[in-house]
Amino acid sequence: MHAPMSDVVVIGGGVAGCASALALARRGLSVRVLERNPGEGASWAAAGILGPQLEAAGDGPLARLCLASRALYPELVASLAEATGIDVGFRQSGALRVAFTASGREEIAREVAWQREAGLAVELCDGGGARARVPSLCAEVAGGAWFADEARLDPPSLMRALRIAAERTGVQFRAGAAVRRVLVDRARARGALLEDGTRVEADWTVLTAGSWSSLIEGSGLAPAAVRPVRGQIVELTPASPPLTQVVYGPGCYLSPRDDGRVLVGATVELAGFVPAVTARAVRDLLTAALRLVPALEDAPLGRTWAGLRPHPSDELPILGQGELTHLIFATGHFRNGVLLAPVTAQIVAALIAGEQPPLDLSPFSPARPGIAG
Ligand SMILES: Cc1cc2nc3c(=O)[nH]c(=O)nc-3n(C[C@H](O)[C@H](O)[C@H](O)COP(=O)(O)OP(=O)(O)OC[C@H]3O[C@@H](n4cnc5c(N)ncnc54)[C@H](O)[C@@H]3O)c2cc1C
Repeated sequence: MHAPMSDVVVIGGGVAGCASALALARRGLSVRVLERNPGEGASWAAAGILGPQLEAAGDGPLARLCLASRALYPELVASLAEATGIDVGFRQSGALRVAFTASGREEIAREVAWQREAGLAVELCDGGGARARVPSLCAEVAGGAWFADEARLDPPSLMRALRIAAERTGVQFRAGAAVRRVLVDRARARGALLEDGTRVEADWTVLTAGSWSSLIEGSGLAPAAVRPVRGQIVELTPASPPLTQVVYGPGCYLSPRDDGRVLVGATVELAGFVPAVTARAVRDLLTAALRLVPALEDAPLGRTWAGLRPHPSDELPILGQGELTHLIFATGHFRNGVLLAPVTAQIVAALIAGEQPPLDLSPFSPARPGIAG
């Protein structure tokens, strides 16, 4: 069986695949997204924190990539709202990282020192300063750092908006399409072969299969280049929201929503391809959350869920072209894949158009040791 040829075939319809497909279609290319099981990926499970400064313990290529992507978000969400009418919950709410001890506070100060030198918005605070920002924090909080430019959004809304905007720009989504391998002809990728034997041919192939990327044959990725790292989340639904800002504390983070919900996340576990919610994780996350914000004690429990973050062996995303020509990798985004979606899409679209990517991609090369098979 043959599907008609398109300019680009994208393997995996998570946030990396959908954002890339939209960017390519907006440049006038015909794009087909092959998705085995919509909703299966990490993108629907994420907490929606856009926090390059919260996450970066030091300066480096990943921190710079994350900062570049955060800067692209206002334009992306405005274009999605225009194309679809969907508010993806993007709020430049700021974020607070806190510790319970003086030594923890000092560690935070050391980790963010580079950010002050780089001219990023970061403000150190003591316990009183932290509670002035987020009054519902417990008395134990000894201080931390406030990041005024950090933001949050609602990942399921983002995914809906990306998909609808992409479809309206001409992208074809094929659900239930499980890719077995990349089609290769003389060291050049030619599309994808599905489990049912269908050949989906294209001039360019983009691999965005998240945690499952290494399982797709023929791409040139090492078998352990990308592995799943499970994250679990507990949702609380308090009657009145005890906070509007993102808070990172010991043992958990809190990501609020405009409707009052508070997402408590997230575990970081090697548990294979098993997106289960466990008793231990729920206990540990709730214990940490209630210690941080005691006012959450009476909040009704909402849903619980788990997702699989695509973890590359050296924790750097895999972006660009590897050994095969016409195959672009955009995977291994681990803890920051939602944050990194706009810059990922920009990179994929630039590479396929034959343009210079917006950043130096050499640290993220698919051909680097441990990633190439
Ligand atoms: C609990 C949790 C909290 C998180 N919080 C945040 C956060 O606050 N901020 C942030 O930036 N990031 C966060 N992340 C990380 C983020 O979710 C991921 O980095 C990101 O979603 C990865 O996107 P992706 O498109 O690469 O992969 P995925 O979303 O996993 O999508 C990959 C897709 O490929 C499909 N696929 C796989 N194999 C095949 C195949 N053979 N054929 C066809 N389709 C296939 C899958 O079905 C899946 O839909 C979180 C993750 C978790 C789990």
